Amino acid sequence: MGVFRTMSSFCDSNKLKNVNYINKKREKVVILGSGWGGIHFLLNIDFQKYDVTLVSPRNYFTFTPLLPCLCSGTLNVDSCSERIDSLLKKNNVSGKYLKLECTDIVYKDKYITCKEDTNSNNEIKINYDYLIISVGAQTNSFNIKGVDKYAFYIKDIIDALKIRTKFISNLEACLKEIKKNNMSEKCINNTMNDELVKNMLHVVVVGGGPTGVEVAAELADFVNKDIKNKYKQVYKYISITIVEGGNNLLPTFTQNISNFTKENFKKLKINVYTNYHVTEIDENHFYIKSSINKNEEPKKIPYGLIIWASGLAQTPLINNFIKKIPEQVNNRILNVNQHLKVIGIPTNDIYAIGDCKKIEPIKSHEHMDEIINCLGDSKVTSDTLKNKSDELSNIFPQLSNKKWDYNKNKKTEMNQKEFEEYLMMVDQNYKSPPPTAQNAKQEAFYLSNIFNNHLYYKNNNIIPPFIEKWKGSLAYIGNHQVVAHLPFYEIKGGPLSFTFWKIIYMQMLLTWKSRFNFIFSFLRTKIYGRPFY
Ligand code: FAD
Ligand code: MG
Ligand code: MG
Ligand code: MG
Ligand code: MG
Repeated sequence: MGVFRTMSSFCDSNKLKNVNYINKKREKVVILGSGWGGIHFLLNIDFQKYDVTLVSPRNYFTFTPLLPCLCSGTLNVDSCSERIDSLLKKNNVSGKYLKLECTDIVYKDKYITCKEDTNSNNEIKINYDYLIISVGAQTNSFNIKGVDKYAFYIKDIIDALKIRTKFISNLEACLKEIKKNNMSEKCINNTMNDELVKNMLHVVVVGGGPTGVEVAAELADFVNKDIKNKYKQVYKYISITIVEGGNNLLPTFTQNISNFTKENFKKLKINVYTNYHVTEIDENHFYIKSSINKNEEPKKIPYGLIIWASGLAQTPLINNFIKKIPEQVNNRILNVNQHLKVIGIPTNDIYAIGDCKKIEPIKSHEHMDEIINCLGDSKVTSDTLKNKSDELSNIFPQLSNKKWDYNKNKKTEMNQKEFEEYLMMVDQNYKSPPPTAQNAKQEAFYLSNIFNNHLYYKNNNIIPPFIEKWKGSLAYIGNHQVVAHLPFYEIKGGPLSFTFWKIIYMQMLLTWKSRFNFIFSFLRTKIYGRPFY
């Protein structure tokens, strides 16, 4: 088995030879997808070493963290998108871009099939030497009735613009209605129409993670500032609600931050329903049920716009691909090893990064004997294991001290059975990097470095595993308040928090074009307010 061979080689790393040679022919690397993973791989792969082609139906990159600002009009499209053409040239060598959607991966013959658009029957074949899959994921409706039909997703630029258009068109319709009512105010009782207007201006966000929270916060800013200023007559009819199945908003942040966010939402008059989940959506209502009290009657609530910001599902391409790999048929997501290589591909030439994959390392407890061998003559304790963890993590990333807390899990000398149990605990504790832009980007840089520095020279050096580095999470929670959960610190709002947020995003944007638009949009919003179109 492959593991054994690699195991013996890394325990004996002195014997490694460094066979450096330069290929004459540039091998062909095909990247699927122009999102966080695909674009950052493209930016860092050496075009002089590889013949690179990017395949994606979307000829631009979307800076997804800024999409909530697009829903409200705080920022414009140019602040959060990047044309691919402008990223294709490096040091006088160009990569290629094909505006195609990949429909199938035929790994046995090393090619993919593509089509130009969803309606096209024309099949295009593209060969590869290496394939990098970074097609991301889709929104998950969890098969809840009505979600696909009535809810607005927020995945890309077009989705954010659709949300904005719908909100503004509801607003305009209501303004018309209100004007009509005002004219006939003295003659008829208009409570009926009032109800209608209120319902139409009820905006609901489902999902209390960062995306849901930011969308609710941005829309609240739009309502509390611009609409309140310019359309006072309609302001009092607007309401915003956020629904979250768990107990907390921003559940992946700290409890303090979650509480602070809830408090801030109360100030912004956002209705918060935590511990409620949506069970159905119809044309005018959504239904929620308590997640804790099973006996509580479901609630039926009218809405005018409902935004679904919850859950990921895999794309049809990935679902079909999984079915074609015998080792993976039962998986629900594409599994890759610690080097991001797709498991079960005999030719070892397909990698996956970003939201479309999960890292599934080899179980260390199934290789206990080899690990004991590797510890040499030392006693089997958590400390001796820790001493070897750097080497061992090349194969078992779960043993890295970045993934396993050896100090919290101290064990003195263990017998075989105890050690097996200890390793089982370590295996169970491993969590694949969560599906975030931050991780997709780190994976892209890691993998392109492996291509540039290891694969190209075809050396037998041990390839380090991918281990993500958590740099913290940020969320905008409205009214110029930002929360941040950072490795050694947390920020809960405050006058400088929004400036901090702006600086972080400024430096993360890919080009000066985006940075310029980012600054320009914020200035425009400050001076003239958000646009109403
Ligand atoms: P994506 O970025 O989704 O890119 C997928 C690409 O593949 C797209 O270009 C798509 O067109 C293309 N594609 C799809 N199917 C095919 C096919 N068959 N053939 C070829 N190409 C295909 N993460 C954070 O870390 N911080 C945040 O603040 C944050 N905010 C977010 C806000 C929103 C509104 C959203 C939606 C996400 C946010 N995320 C955030 C998550 C982050 O965007 C994702 O984790 C990240 O985009 C994953 O990168 P990816 O490359 O796997 O997929
Ligand atoms: Mg991508
Ligand atoms: Mg993206
Ligand atoms: Mg995504
Ligand atoms: Mg991906």
